[in-house]
Formats: sequence, structure tokens, C-alpha cells
Amino acid sequence: MSAPNIETIVSLAKRRGFVFPASEIYGGLGSSWDYGSLGVELANNIKKSWWRWLVHERDDIEGLDSSIIQNRQVWKYSGHETTFSDPLVDCRACKGRFRLDKLQDVSCPKEQSANAGSGKECDLTEAREFNLMFRTTVGAVSAEDDESALAYLRPETAQGIFINFANVLNTSRRKLPFGIAQIGKAFRNEVTPGNFIFRTREFEQMEMEYFCRPEDAPRIHQEFIDAFQEWFYSLGISAENLKLYEQTKEELAHYAERTVDILYRFFPERDDEEKQFDELMGIANRKDFDLKAHSKKPEDREGKRINTDSNEDLSYFDEATKQRFYPYVIEPAVGVNRTLLAVLMDAYTEKTNDKNETRVILKLKPELAPIKVAVLPLAKNKPEIVSMAKDLKRQLLPAMRTVYDDTGGIGKLYARQDEIGTPFCVTVDHESLEDNAVTVRNRDTWEQERINVSELKEHLQKRLN
Ligand code: ATP
Repeated sequence: MSAPNIETIVSLAKRRGFVFPASEIYGGLGSSWDYGSLGVELANNIKKSWWRWLVHERDDIEGLDSSIIQNRQVWKYSGHETTFSDPLVDCRACKGRFRLDKLQDVSCPKEQSANAGSGKECDLTEAREFNLMFRTTVGAVSAEDDESALAYLRPETAQGIFINFANVLNTSRRKLPFGIAQIGKAFRNEVTPGNFIFRTREFEQMEMEYFCRPEDAPRIHQEFIDAFQEWFYSLGISAENLKLYEQTKEELAHYAERTVDILYRFFPERDDEEKQFDELMGIANRKDFDLKAHSKKPEDREGKRINTDSNEDLSYFDEATKQRFYPYVIEPAVGVNRTLLAVLMDAYTEKTNDKNETRVILKLKPELAPIKVAVLPLAKNKPEIVSMAKDLKRQLLPAMRTVYDDTGGIGKLYARQDEIGTPFCVTVDHESLEDNAVTVRNRDTWEQERINVSELKEHLQKRLN
């Protein structure tokens, strides 16, 4: 089973401290969210998994962390200044503002039964393009006084990778094919954000640009499409909730040869099966567009330089064939927030106990669980039990994230740990003082085993890995 809808996760996330509405005490700020103590651990574990799987386990990918604010020319030559926009329409009747291509996803504020723009009274304006980049200024001047002070918050992490292509290539002594991976914040002034952390104006991306020979690009593209599905399975996301979507010619970005999106069933409550799925990640073959766009060399048909500001030529010299060319780029791009939402939705389970009460269990993969083990004292007024439990927490901690918790009766404590996805609880009781053994309780089966303290760490480690 997985969560019946996003609202179930919103309420769990708030109740247990995964995600809070941002600026809540001032009434919030349109679709901004803060990660609480468990949310930040879960997000970090997702990022660690991605980084380890790509940068550490493979031998062909380097890491990078580039600046959020770059020279404005980056966004001029990447095309973002002119083309990174959404078609915007206003409704004269309800005063609502919508993205033309997403009208079917929002209901009309006046007639909830109809989609925006298709209600009886709806009266839409002509569409106009709205640039999604957040503007800011660099230095103690305003952009109105001095155009050169204008800068943008990056709307994607990818461009930071392209402009560092030569730096990484030269310092790592790489040869094609190889990739550069980056995790970081991106900002988009989305017209209609919403659906909890699915679409926000500030979000985190995990992007990798894989540089290769043009003739190898189609094969490598397909390999990453297959590999990323496997990565999502490894995070505990079930195959029935994932789907591939091949972008049509009309949908493809102008630079892309082929783009395949991996969709997740974010909206299981919708009647139309097709509409239950939305984008979790995109995997694009961007051809040689980006490296060319940022290079000083290339010329257009009239012999004019395409880029008059760059100081570098980002082409690649192939020693073997003695040829110089612009590598093709395969880009798998995924949001941390959407991955976290999909992971939470898929892990959500309900189980009935012997008193016929419904309990929530978050069946997170141990690798992702914010807390791996909770050590609980059966009697918190017995100093010897408390001290043994706290000792155990300290012993386990270097090997696995362990917490000590004595804030309730044992039933409540178990229920709380189940709901936040802690794979194991370790209970110290009166007998433990005599036999040096503790009870290990499994989150998913609720089975309990008596384990000697001397074997505890190994016992847990085996099951967590
Ligand atoms: P959409 O079509 O949903 O607007 P996109 O195709 O513009 O997304 P990309 O530019 O391909 O998105 O970005 C790569 C990934 O970054 C997306 O697959 C998604 O996981 C994440 N992402 C993009 N925009 C947002 C956002 N506003 N909020 C949260 N995550 C986002």
C-alpha cells in the first residue's frame, strides 16, 4: 500500500516534524516549506544515496558545487533570459492567474467542478510569456540605476556545470565519456506552484551532465533512463507507481534531441489513471547546445560569432582521432523535494493492531530512515535502566543514527517510531540488568527478539544493510 493522497503526507509531515509551512507565524509564503528535524535527515539521506551511487560508486563522474549567483552572461547565452518563461493567462471573471499549459491541473476558483478556464463564466486573456528567473542585484547599486548590477538566482544547477566543463576536464585529466554531478538549490518564480513540495519556487536539484561523443549519445541516454528507474526502486519506490513518458516533438526543448521523463503516481486519488502521474525527473539528450553556446569560437551561418563575451572555447580534442568537436550531453535531472515526496508516499502504510486501532507505519528503506535505532527504557524512573539505555545509545551511535527516547509509555514510543520510519527499537527492561540482553522490535513485522548486548551492534548492522 502507499499513501491515498498527498494530503495524508502533508498531515503526517507536519505532525511528526518532517516538513512545516515556511513563515507560518506570519501567514506563510506561497508554496514555501521548511524541513524539520526528520525532513532534513531524510533529504540528506536521499542526496547521500544519489551522490554515492553516481560520484563514488561509478568511476566516470566528478562532483561540483557551483555558485547560485553567476555572471549574468551565463543566463544570456544559455537562453534563459529570452526563453525560460511560461505562458501566462489571467481570468477576467475570477481574477485568477494560470499557466496556460497546466489549466487542466487547476480547478476554477469560482466553479470547483470545472478546470480553470473552462467554467461557464471564465474569460481568459491572451497568453503572454512570463520569465521565471528571480532577479537580484550584485553590489550596493540598484538594477534600475545600473543595468550591469542585474543578476539572477539560478533556475537550474546545470549551467554551473557547463561553464566549469574545461576546469573539471583539465584538473581531473578526464577523457570522454565522463560526467559532472551537482546538488544544489534552484529558484523559479513559478506561476502556479502547489501540491505541497511538488512545485515550489525554491527547490533543490540533483543534476548530472554526462559528456560523450555524439554517436554514443543515444545509447548512453537509454542506459541512464534504465539506471535511474533502478535507483528509484533502490529507494523503495514501487514499479507500479513509476512510469516513463517520451516527450513529443512539440514538447521537446529547442536544444533537445530526445527527452524521457520518469513519472510518479503523485495523485492516486484521481479517477483518470493518466492524470495520476506527474514528472519526478527528466532525462534529456541536449546534444552539443550548451557547450557551444558558452564557447567563444562558434560562428553562425553569416560567420558572426555566436558568443562575444566568453573567453573560452569549450570544445574537446580527441587524441585518438585527432579531431576537435563539441561533446553531446546527457542530462538526468531530478528534484530532491519530489523524490522525498515520492519516497514518503510509497513508504506510507497502515496496519491494525490487536486492539483494532489503526497505526501508521512508514516503511522507509533503512538507508533513508532519519533514525535507524531508538533505544527505549521500559521504566524511566529506574536509574540503572536509564543509564544502561543511554550507554547503549552511545555505543551504537558511531555505526548508526541512534536516539534515546523516554517521553512516553512503551506503546506510544513504538507507535511514534513506526510513524517516522525507524526500522528498529531496542527496549531495556528490568531483566536486562540481570541477563545483559535487550528486546529488539522490528518496525514492519512488530516481531520482538531477545538479543544479548554483546551481539546487538552486529545484529542490527546486518539487518540495516
Ligand atoms: P515541470 O514540467 O514540472 O515544471 P520541468 O520539466 O520544468 O518540471 P526540469 O527543468 O526538467 O523540470 O527540472 C528537473 C527536475 O527538477 C524536475 O523533474 C523536478 O523533479 C524538479 N523541479 C523542477 N521544477 C520544480 C519546482 N518548481 N519545484 C520542485 N521541483 C522542481
